Amino acid sequence: MPSTKYVFVTGGVASSLGKGIISASLAKLLQARGFSVTIQKLDPYINIDPGTLNPYEHGECYVTEDGAETDLDLGHYERYLNVPTSQANNVTTGRIYQEVIFRERRGDYLGETVQVIPHITDEIKRRIKLLGSENKFDFVITEIGGTVGDIESLPYIEAVRQMRWEIGTDCVVVHLTLVPFLAAAGELKTKPTQHSVKTLLEQGVQPDIIVCRTEKHLNENLRNKIALFCNVNPTAVIESIDAESIYDVPLLMLDEKLDVEVLEKTRMPMGNTPELSKWEEFLFRLKHPEKQVVIGLIGKYVELKDAYKSIHESFVHAGASNHCKVIVKALHSESITHATAGDILKGLDGILVAPGFGSRGIEGKIEAIRYARENQIPFLGICLGMQCAVIEFGRNVLGLKDAHSTEMDPDTTNPVIDIMEGQKSVSGKGGTMRLGAYPCTISENSRAFDVYGTPDIRERHRHRYEFNNAYLDLYQKAGMKASGINTKDNLVEIVELSSHPWFIGIQFHPEYKSTVANPHPLFVNFVKAAITYSEK
Ligand code: GLN
Repeated sequence: MPSTKYVFVTGGVASSLGKGIISASLAKLLQARGFSVTIQKLDPYINIDPGTLNPYEHGECYVTEDGAETDLDLGHYERYLNVPTSQANNVTTGRIYQEVIFRERRGDYLGETVQVIPHITDEIKRRIKLLGSENKFDFVITEIGGTVGDIESLPYIEAVRQMRWEIGTDCVVVHLTLVPFLAAAGELKTKPTQHSVKTLLEQGVQPDIIVCRTEKHLNENLRNKIALFCNVNPTAVIESIDAESIYDVPLLMLDEKLDVEVLEKTRMPMGNTPELSKWEEFLFRLKHPEKQVVIGLIGKYVELKDAYKSIHESFVHAGASNHCKVIVKALHSESITHATAGDILKGLDGILVAPGFGSRGIEGKIEAIRYARENQIPFLGICLGMQCAVIEFGRNVLGLKDAHSTEMDPDTTNPVIDIMEGQKSVSGKGGTMRLGAYPCTISENSRAFDVYGTPDIRERHRHRYEFNNAYLDLYQKAGMKASGINTKDNLVEIVELSSHPWFIGIQFHPEYKSTVANPHPLFVNFVKAAITYSEK
C-alpha cells in the first residue's frame, strides 16, 4: 500500500464558503471508492478549543467520543463519513503554542531561540502527520480554518508549503474560492479568485485544484480563464454551485470529478466506482417527503442556526428516515411566559428544549415544557432541556415552588438539579466538564427502551450539573421515571413521563451521534411521535 496522502483544503476571498462541506464531500467520495479517510480541522484562533467560546462567536461546540470540545465542522465529518473523530482531528493555534511553550519550559530546546519557523510549523506538521502515522488512513484531509491572507493562518500555510516540498505528490492542495455574480454586469467574476491564488502563491503554495463556489454555472471560457491565470489544468477547476441541501454536495463533486482530480494528482489508483446508493436513497427520501411536521426548537441562540447545528442536522436525518419534512421553528425562550406560551407554541407537533448554560431564558424553557406536558405534545429535552423538565415537574407537579438548578439559583431550598460531586472542586473552565461518551443502562419497559431497542447505550456528554438523587423517589412515585442510569456513578441520564405519549429528557447529547447512515433513534422516534400527534 502506498503511504498516506495528505490533502489540504484552504479557503480564499471570503469566509463561510463551505470548506467543511467540501472537505467532507471529498472524503465521502474517496470513502465510497474504498479508501480509508480521516479529516482534520486546523483552527487559527488562540483558544485551546472552542469550549469556552460563545455560540455567537463560533456556532455550536461539537463533542467527540473521547470528550474533545471541537469545531462544528467535525460534526459534518462524522455525519458524512459515519466514522468517529477524536481530539487529534481538531487543532487550534492555542494548542500548538501551548505544546511548544510547555516543551520550552521543560528544556527541550535548551540553547535555541524558539521561533514560529521551525518550532511552531514543526508542531503543526507533527499534528497533521499524527493522523497519517501507522498508515491507518489512505488519505488525511486537513482543512485550514480562516481565509488566506489572514495573519493568523500564515504559520499553517507555511506548514503546507513545507510539507509539499518534503513529500511532493503525496500531497495535494485544494483551494476553495468564490466566483461572485455581479447582477449589474450580468457576469460571473474571476478576479477575486485570481487574487486569492496570488496571495497563496506569495506564501509559496501553488494550489493543484481550485473549487469555485458560485451561484451560476461556470462555462468553458470561465474555467479556462481561471486555469490560465491560476496555473492549473482546466479539469482542476471545479464548480461548486449553491445546492438545495448540503447533502447534495458529494454528488455535485462526483459530477465535477473532484475525487478523480485528487486521485490523479496523488498518483493513486482510481479504486471502485463510488458506492453511493444508500446516500442517494437518503437524498431521495429527503426530497420526496410524504408528510410534514413542525417542531419548536426552544433556545436562546435561535437567530443563529449554527448554534444548534447538530440538532438541525439530526432532524434532517430523522425526517428522511420517516419520509417526513421536519420544519424546525426556532423560538426564543426569553419570549415565552405563562401568558404567551399558548400563542407562541400553538400549532407545534413537537417541542425540543435545547442545551445551554446560565439563566438567560430559563423560565421560558420551563414554561414551554409545562405547555408540552399539559397538552400531551411530544417533548424532547436535551441536557439543560432535561434539567428544565425536572425543574418544571418539581414546581408544577410536586409543588416544590422554588425547585431549581443550583447553576441558576445556588440558594434554592429545592436543588433538584445540583452540581456533580466530581465538579465541586473544579475551578478552571476549559475542558473541565463531564465530557465525551459514557455508558448508560436503560430499564426495560420504558419508552427509552422502545426507542433504543437495547439496554446498553453510550452517549456523549457536556455538563457540570445532574439530577439530584435525593429527590429520585419523590419523582418516580409521582410519575417521572429515571429510565436511564449511569450505574457506575449512579447518575440519572434519562427521565420520562409514563402518563404522557412521548416525553423524554436526556442528560446527554444524542445530536452529536446522528449521521446520514445512522439517524439517531431518539430523533427518529421523536419525529414519529410528532407525526402521530399531527395526525390526531
Ligand atoms: N448548564 C447545564 C450543565 O452544565 C447544561 C449543559 C448543557 O446543556 N450542555 O449541567
